[in-house]
Amino acid sequence: MESREPVVLKRAEHPISRRDIDPDALKVLYRLYRNGFKAYLVGGAVRDLLLGKRPKDFDVVTDARPGQVKKLFTNCMLIGRRFRLAHIRFKGGKIIEVATFRKEPDEECAENVSIDPNTSFGTSEQDAFRRDITINALFYDIADFSIIDYVGGLGDLNNGIVRMIGSPRDRYVEDPVRMWRVLRHAARLGFSIEEETSREIMLHRELLCSCSGARMFEELNKDIASGHIGSVLALFREYGMLPSLFGKIGSFLQEDSRAWNTLQPLLNVADEHARAGRPLPNASTLTIMFWPWAEQILQTGASDGEDKVKVLHDALFDSGMAITIPKAMKIGITQTACIVERMLFAMRSGRMKWSLKKRSRYADASVVFSVITTGRADKEKDPFSRIFREAHPEAKGHRKKRRPSRSRWRKQRQEKPAS
Ligand code: ATP
Ligand code: MG
Repeated sequence: MESREPVVLKRAEHPISRRDIDPDALKVLYRLYRNGFKAYLVGGAVRDLLLGKRPKDFDVVTDARPGQVKKLFTNCMLIGRRFRLAHIRFKGGKIIEVATFRKEPDEECAENVSIDPNTSFGTSEQDAFRRDITINALFYDIADFSIIDYVGGLGDLNNGIVRMIGSPRDRYVEDPVRMWRVLRHAARLGFSIEEETSREIMLHRELLCSCSGARMFEELNKDIASGHIGSVLALFREYGMLPSLFGKIGSFLQEDSRAWNTLQPLLNVADEHARAGRPLPNASTLTIMFWPWAEQILQTGASDGEDKVKVLHDALFDSGMAITIPKAMKIGITQTACIVERMLFAMRSGRMKWSLKKRSRYADASVVFSVITTGRADKEKDPFSRIFREAHPEAKGHRKKRRPSRSRWRKQRQEKPAS
């Protein structure tokens, strides 16, 4: 690779101030720098600071080898087998990740896992080019507070463009999760996707299914936690990727526009909660996401007398998802959806089976019910009970019978005329 001169923005030419950087990340950067190493802030932190947003995490990259990093920090742990990373721990469980500059593995290295990891270390320039999209490959240099751009990330950030670094085709083949990351960042930031970066996703979208299901579950959780699952799924749908990721559930959401249109505002509710720092449990967000599909399975797939929980359970386990949702979570989703269905029946009929309150999933179901029917999930613990009471004040059984207190009970007995 021929070497290129990076674009460098001096301190006066960009808005990033040290005040906006996490103090522990600053400590790490300074200690590396004062010991003679290069020390850059990199990735999402630089991108978000330039956009005036609060970064989620602060990643550091350096020319110090992992062993050298470890010697500088007592609170450091080296992780990873092939690419060793340093995790520096701070109070409250905070971790600052420090990576050594790396280059894209060449073919021989990529195929041979046992190869010496030292061969994968590189220069800062090589490290920029091995990253995913241009806006994620900017460096903030603690030596002079400048921003270093090898890949055209500053221009793309200004123009609102998500662009894969290098040949999108090759980069997707190498790691298909990069397609997910392109769509994630476009959805989160409201950026457009550069033409070739976009076209190659259409051509290679099936490759995602070859990735580890557990890794994709992690990616899914990141989008739920960041409060952007609605917009990410909308882009998956635009790119026709729902069926391969979510099997039959995805096909249903891909093809049935009505179901999809009903779902979108519901996902917005979950997203708003996550962004406000009051996230719904991930399993509840997934139950909301699967609800349009689950509802039609419960309505059409389960005949009278059949155990609905079993029907939905089997349908979910046979849905052919490429994403591995843990078994316990799938069971939880099934149980929650079945209680929600019972709640909807209660609203129509005025009859509720209150013994369901004893089920462990009742509280989750009550919140999911509220999102589905009212488009809201307030702080209330059991919105279903209130909504049901308001709709059916005449219905019996939803008020707890007050057990007389011991003193009241004694008093009542004393007052009773002797017979
Ligand atoms: P977030 O705000 O979600 O943390 P991020 O861009 O920081 O966004 P991370 O998952 O924290 O995302 O990754 C940190 C950096 O590592 C990215 O900015 C990118 O430069 C690089 N990176 C992550 N995943 C890949 C990948 N699959 N291929 C190449 N580079 C990657
Ligand atoms: Mg990050």
